[in-house]
Amino acid sequence: MGMAMANPTLKEELLKFEPTASLCYQCGTCTTVCPMTEFGLNTRLVMKLANLGIIDDWLRKAVWLCTGCGLCQESCPNEIRIPNVIRFVRLKILEGRRGK
Ligand code: SF4
Ligand code: SF4
Repeated sequence: MGMAMANPTLKEELLKFEPTASLCYQCGTCTTVCPMTEFGLNTRLVMKLANLGIIDDWLRKAVWLCTGCGLCQESCPNEIRIPNVIRFVRLKILEGRRGK
């Protein structure tokens, strides 16, 4: 918890789980179309943190807001499988909890 540092191992794991994640160039279209943005999800920021291998306190909470609707993926200019990136982050959070 607290300050989160970039974690190259986590990033590597993400790219194995979902190779399209690396194609994100932070355009923000996903955040614009996501119906959960108004409730505090910021898909662009999820992508930024995930690609740095960072799971911080914000992401730990926000990632559970995703409904899996798929609008972000449909709108992403690089067709990044964002819901799969979110699935990865959720799995990592759950793994961390089990490890405690
Ligand atoms: S729409 Fe795609 S490229 Fe743009 S910020 Fe979202 S994930 Fe990244
Ligand atoms: S799949 Fe999740 S992140 Fe993507 S638009 Fe739907 S609610 Fe937002």
